[in-house]
Amino acid sequence: MKAIVLNDYGGVEQLRFEDAPKPEPGFDDVVIRTRATGVNHCDTDVRRGLFGVMQRFPHVMGVDAAGEIETIGPGVTEFKPGDRVAPHFMLSCGVCKNCQRGVENICLKPDILGVTTWGTYAQFVKVRQNNVVRLPDGLSFDEAVAAQVPFATAWEGLISVAKLTVGETVLINAAGSGIGSAAIQVAKLAGARVIATVGSDEKFAKARELGADEVINYSTTDVPETVMCLTNGLGVEVALDMVGGARLLDAIAALAQGGRLASVGAHGGEKVLIDMIEFFRKHISLHGCGRSTKSIVSEVLALVADGKLKPVIFKRFPLAKASETHRLMESRNFFGRMVLQPWGTE
Ligand SMILES: [Zn+2]
Repeated sequence: MKAIVLNDYGGVEQLRFEDAPKPEPGFDDVVIRTRATGVNHCDTDVRRGLFGVMQRFPHVMGVDAAGEIETIGPGVTEFKPGDRVAPHFMLSCGVCKNCQRGVENICLKPDILGVTTWGTYAQFVKVRQNNVVRLPDGLSFDEAVAAQVPFATAWEGLISVAKLTVGETVLINAAGSGIGSAAIQVAKLAGARVIATVGSDEKFAKARELGADEVINYSTTDVPETVMCLTNGLGVEVALDMVGGARLLDAIAALAQGGRLASVGAHGGEKVLIDMIEFFRKHISLHGCGRSTKSIVSEVLALVADGKLKPVIFKRFPLAKASETHRLMESRNFFGRMVLQPWGTE
């Protein structure tokens, strides 16, 4: 099969389009013909060797995909060749205490697709049957892959963890990111008022198109001060941050009394000095999350198929052009999701 094969860490020149052995299914594995692959920020960390988990070379990265089942192992009972599916990037063991409680997203013995196993930057990918999600009818592979990680992560953060409800106001950082643009739609669907932050004026209109009620440029405007003006001095009940650093501190300062903050990433600053006086006086809760359950993935994909959530696809690229997507990812000069097509445009 063709794949992007990593033989060492480094720049985009390490993303080589080469032949690699096609995976063979083990007893309870399915092999998926990958029709669409998502490009995620964490892929650039894997490429650079910064993910925090070292890879064995040669390595194939890629945490999400959508496609159809090509072959199955003899122990597979739930799926058959031809089924339209997506692998769940959080490869849970299926038997530990947390998996048994139905919170396989905090599995005690997890693998991560494309990080600890070969991933989806390839024409085929292998996962165990307990880590497969069915695609709803009418959902294209491109939409499925564009939706999966951002919408499921936004849903996990806003709805499952921060318990955002009708009538509340939410601050969403980095509305131009995949998770940010998904979070605006999830928050509107939940009936919330959305204040979004963006890093450049060009992203204003797009954030509004997605449903943001207010947009703040964090590079030119004081975010907490503006949020207080927009909320009669009360602040927001919920904030979602995926940036860390100064953006996380802005979000904490913008929270109302009893505010809930969900943090799903920290590429913009991993170490943050928090004023604990403000933290406990305001009764703030800070939740770490970022890996959704399979049931959340199924739920958001159904909402996408129903047209209630719309993934934003920035551009489609052939798999061989993966290096171009990483260059764009690192420039931040895009809005929405980049999708790789391992079998070309169909
Ligand atoms: Zn487990």
